[in-house]
Amino acid sequence: MVLMIYNTMTQKKEVFKPLKEGEVRMYVCGPTVYDYSHIGHARTYTAFDVIHRWLEFKGFKVTWVMNITDIDDKMINRAKKEGTTVFELATRFSQAFFKDMDALGIKPDVFPFATGHIPEIIEVIKKLEKNGYAYVIDDGVYFDVSKFKDYGKLSKQKREELIKHRIEPNPNKRNPGDFALWKFKKPGEPSWPSPWGEGRPGWHIECSAMSSKYLGEQFDIHGGGNDLIFPHHENEIAQSEGAFGKKPWVKYWMHTGFLNIKGEKMSKSLGNIIPIKDALQKWEPEVLRLFFVSKHYRSPIDFREEYLNETKESLERIYTFLEKIEKLKVVSKMEKQEKEMLNKVKKAIKDFENAMDDDFNTPKALAVVFNLVKSMNKFLEGRTTISSKLKEEINKFLCMFFYVFGIPKKGRKIVEKELVEKLVEILIEVRNELRKKKDFGLADKIRKKMKDVGILLEDTLTSTEWKLC
Ligand code: AMP
Ligand code: ZN
Repeated sequence: MVLMIYNTMTQKKEVFKPLKEGEVRMYVCGPTVYDYSHIGHARTYTAFDVIHRWLEFKGFKVTWVMNITDIDDKMINRAKKEGTTVFELATRFSQAFFKDMDALGIKPDVFPFATGHIPEIIEVIKKLEKNGYAYVIDDGVYFDVSKFKDYGKLSKQKREELIKHRIEPNPNKRNPGDFALWKFKKPGEPSWPSPWGEGRPGWHIECSAMSSKYLGEQFDIHGGGNDLIFPHHENEIAQSEGAFGKKPWVKYWMHTGFLNIKGEKMSKSLGNIIPIKDALQKWEPEVLRLFFVSKHYRSPIDFREEYLNETKESLERIYTFLEKIEKLKVVSKMEKQEKEMLNKVKKAIKDFENAMDDDFNTPKALAVVFNLVKSMNKFLEGRTTISSKLKEEINKFLCMFFYVFGIPKKGRKIVEKELVEKLVEILIEVRNELRKKKDFGLADKIRKKMKDVGILLEDTLTSTEWKLC
């Protein structure tokens, strides 16, 4: 099956054909770093991480860019409130954000900062001015939406309609819907020189400038949460197509549904957020990831602690199954029933791939995994052996699942158990060396300390055994 992607622009699922064969260029709007990121952000970024992984799994060379907004009204206001600088605030919360992304295994290739790209931003505004889309008034440089005939093509609203909704801050604008490209400096605000005067960029322009720098003037996928369709993405299109003159600027527009809590969008302004760092204290990153992909990326997802606990149990079932397989004796001969199972696993691989190719239908792909584990568990009841071919196919299937969903192959409990075993073996070796050197005092101390933490050592004539007491 070919990969189908739902395109917000055409509101249809379309066959995915990147602009350059074999290569995918993807841009996802990142956070404004004025506070800790919450699990609503994590839902959106995990969705794109899985999209990224699936594209790579299919053999595409993917370049993924996620911007960091480190200058805007929210940054300035928070810095004032905290009595700090915008730079300090951005440093603190971008570091925290990278830590969260690292823990969750979300790995874009480039994280460009807006303030690191002021010359590029100025260049795009200059192009817009040259092409007749930009004009200067008392408080900044604006984009004239009436000049861009396609304005509203992504959000499917008429320009007059869009304009009605907007609160009007500056009566000198040509049209109420015009938006700022460059804002002139106000006292106490960070600013940079520009051909129009000292100031700072508007929010939307950074994405047009940084995407073109890292991905070119046209690219394949642009994404973000649903709330970005209007005005942010609508304005990005107007800027990029207006400046570079190439259409379409982006081939596929992808938007995620919200993570809700008690029926409301999780957001800083509603004060109902769970920071990623707090969620990670309670649940392993793989449990959070699996929870996020349990719903299709375009659907909303309800956050409830019970759901997370259920997800944890589901993941444990997969790890227990893997452990069971590892304990079986591998034989070369394959029984008739095993051949049937082998066909089942092969079909599961196909079903998983088809689900992911169908606009990244992760809940469907997950159902394939859980159904297979269930029927394999039943099949393995009372068995002590497994044919190498069947084991290989099961491993292939589960490896695909682990890779695509970004989940470690071994459960933490198993990793920890193995680690404990290795550490105990090291201690036993050290203790035996000490005994050989007749340092019985220290050797006994080790034995006693190990007993205190629940590990009992028993010396036999030839070796030292251990068990938990
Ligand atoms: P922000 O910095 O809050 O504007 O958001 C950064 C990204 O996270 C955008 O793509 C938002 O659409 C997305 N986002 C914010 N809140 C949520 C949420 N509750 N659920 C899903 N995505 C969200
Ligand atoms: Zn953006």
